[in-house]
Amino acid sequence: MMNNDITILTSSLDELGIKYTDEQIDKLIKYFKMLIEKNKVLNLTAITDFQGVMIKHFVDSLSILKYIEIEDNSKVLDIGTGAGFPGIPLKIFLPEVEFLLMDSLNKRLNFILEVIDELKLEKISVMHGRAEDLAHDKEYRENFDFCFSRAVANLSTLSELCLGFVKKGGMFIPYKSALAEDEISNAGNAIKLMGGKFIKTEKFELPVLKEERDFVFIKKGINTPGKYPRKAGTPAKNPL
Ligand code: SAM
Repeated sequence: MMNNDITILTSSLDELGIKYTDEQIDKLIKYFKMLIEKNKVLNLTAITDFQGVMIKHFVDSLSILKYIEIEDNSKVLDIGTGAGFPGIPLKIFLPEVEFLLMDSLNKRLNFILEVIDELKLEKISVMHGRAEDLAHDKEYRENFDFCFSRAVANLSTLSELCLGFVKKGGMFIPYKSALAEDEISNAGNAIKLMGGKFIKTEKFELPVLKEERDFVFIKKGINTPGKYPRKAGTPAKNPL
């Protein structure tokens, strides 16, 4: 029988020093059930066991809260959110922060809209499109205090996709698993051209599974030149 004991979630959050309420845990469990149900008809996640979703999706998404404080009314963007990671768990824990979840696959965003409705989440919206295109829309450009992105591209490509959205002084923080030694140095040029500055990496171990995870902290120093990001597909095909 599947072990659906929520203490795996709560004790992992305790271990990371992340505070939670019963309501937040209830919302995550509802989200889990919706994810598993929808995954039968739509490809949302390869991880479907209770422990896997709790740790690899939920705790992993929330773990950034150990390292940063996000003030109420800040604007947060999640690029390539897929089934809502890290955006939905973070939204549940940051009710007063403004979230935009972006993806180029509309079917996944439709699932997210169902989650938003069912969990009665506020101050959150979704946007369908490619980051390369949306970053040139003045509604989004240089408009976010924080930009997160998990499992979307290598650091160089991701920097081109994401940094145009971040306000001067804001932070772009990609979620990485076992960051390759050379990934940061290979991304140095893209980070600089996009107006970013590498600040630090934070390595940590995911509770229970003890898998390595890394956050890369990149600060937006100057506005991104108008020619970046290049047209859709180029940042992945031909990284800066
Ligand atoms: N972030 C989620 C997670 O960690 O589970 C989803 C990761 S999934 C492997 C990558 C997602 O990024 C997909 O949903 C895909 O549609 C989206 N994506 C890839 N390239 C993109 C782009 N250029 N602009 C917007 N979304 C993109």
